[in-house]
Amino acid sequence: MGLFDIFSTNSGKRRRAATAVGLETGLFQECPVCRDVTEKQAPESLLRETEALAERWVASRDERVAVVDGDLEALKREIREIKQAAPFDCTCERI
Ligand SMILES: [Zn+2]
Repeated sequence: MGLFDIFSTNSGKRRRAATAVGLETGLFQECPVCRDVTEKQAPESLLRETEALAERWVASRDERVAVVDGDLEALKREIREIKQAAPFDCTCERI
Protein backbone atom coordinates (compact mmCIF):
# COMPACT_ATOMS: atom_id res chain seq x y z
CA MET A 1 0.00 0.00 0.00
CA GLY A 2 1.39 3.37 -0.96
CA LEU A 3 1.30 6.35 1.34
CA PHE A 4 -1.18 8.00 -0.97
CA ASP A 5 -3.88 5.38 -0.43
CA ILE A 6 -4.88 6.83 2.92
CA PHE A 7 -5.00 10.46 1.88
CA SER A 8 -8.78 10.65 1.99
CA THR A 9 -8.78 10.31 5.79
CA ASN A 10 -7.98 13.11 8.20
CA SER A 11 -4.70 11.61 9.33
CA GLY A 12 -4.05 11.07 5.64
CA LYS A 13 -4.44 14.79 5.07
CA ARG A 14 -1.94 15.53 7.83
CA ARG A 15 0.39 13.04 6.26
CA ARG A 16 0.03 14.70 2.90
CA ALA A 17 0.84 18.09 4.44
CA ALA A 18 3.96 16.69 6.09
CA THR A 19 4.95 14.98 2.85
CA ALA A 20 4.59 18.26 0.95
CA VAL A 21 7.10 19.93 3.27
CA GLY A 22 9.58 17.07 2.87
CA LEU A 23 9.21 17.04 -0.89
CA GLU A 24 9.89 20.78 -0.99
CA THR A 25 13.26 20.44 0.76
CA GLY A 26 14.22 17.19 -0.96
CA LEU A 27 14.00 15.15 2.23
CA PHE A 28 11.48 12.94 0.45
CA GLN A 29 11.34 11.94 -3.18
CA GLU A 30 8.17 11.11 -5.04
CA CYS A 31 8.45 8.64 -7.87
CA PRO A 32 6.80 10.10 -10.99
CA VAL A 33 5.76 6.60 -12.08
CA CYS A 34 4.30 4.81 -9.03
CA ARG A 35 3.89 7.90 -6.80
CA ASP A 36 5.62 6.18 -3.89
CA VAL A 37 7.29 8.54 -1.46
CA THR A 38 10.80 7.46 -0.58
CA GLU A 39 13.72 8.84 1.33
CA LYS A 40 17.08 8.52 -0.30
CA GLN A 41 19.38 8.49 2.72
CA ALA A 42 18.63 12.11 3.45
CA PRO A 43 21.21 13.65 5.78
CA GLU A 44 20.15 14.75 9.26
CA SER A 45 20.70 18.38 8.24
CA LEU A 46 17.93 18.03 5.67
CA LEU A 47 15.52 16.95 8.38
CA ARG A 48 16.32 20.11 10.33
CA GLU A 49 15.85 22.15 7.16
CA THR A 50 12.50 20.47 6.61
CA GLU A 51 11.39 21.26 10.16
CA ALA A 52 12.44 24.88 9.67
CA LEU A 53 10.36 25.04 6.52
CA ALA A 54 7.42 23.42 8.33
CA GLU A 55 7.74 26.17 10.93
CA ARG A 56 7.67 28.87 8.27
CA TRP A 57 4.65 27.34 6.54
CA VAL A 58 2.73 26.98 9.79
CA ALA A 59 3.66 30.54 10.83
CA SER A 60 2.53 31.96 7.49
CA ARG A 61 -0.62 29.78 7.50
CA ASP A 62 0.40 28.22 4.21
CA GLU A 63 -2.57 26.34 2.73
CA ARG A 64 -0.39 23.26 2.19
CA VAL A 65 -0.25 22.73 5.96
CA ALA A 66 -3.66 24.21 6.84
CA VAL A 67 -4.87 20.80 8.01
CA VAL A 68 -2.67 20.85 11.14
CA ASP A 69 -4.32 24.12 12.18
CA GLY A 70 -1.19 25.73 13.59
CA ASP A 71 0.00 22.61 15.39
CA LEU A 72 3.69 22.69 14.44
CA GLU A 73 4.62 19.84 16.78
CA ALA A 74 2.07 17.55 15.15
CA LEU A 75 3.45 18.42 11.74
CA LYS A 76 7.04 17.77 12.81
CA ARG A 77 6.03 14.46 14.39
CA GLU A 78 4.34 13.47 11.16
CA ILE A 79 7.46 14.34 9.13
CA ARG A 80 9.61 12.12 11.36
CA GLU A 81 7.11 9.27 11.15
CA ILE A 82 7.04 9.44 7.38
CA LYS A 83 10.83 9.55 7.26
CA GLN A 84 11.00 6.39 9.38
CA ALA A 85 8.34 4.58 7.41
CA ALA A 86 9.36 5.66 3.94
CA PRO A 87 10.94 2.91 1.87
CA PHE A 88 14.33 3.36 0.35
CA ASP A 89 13.24 2.33 -3.13
CA CYS A 90 9.82 2.78 -4.62
CA THR A 91 7.66 -0.07 -5.89
CA CYS A 92 8.80 0.10 -9.50
CA GLU A 93 12.49 0.17 -8.58
CA ARG A 94 12.02 -3.04 -6.61
CA ILE A 95 10.54 -5.04 -9.50
ZN1 LIG B 1 8.40 4.15 -8.67
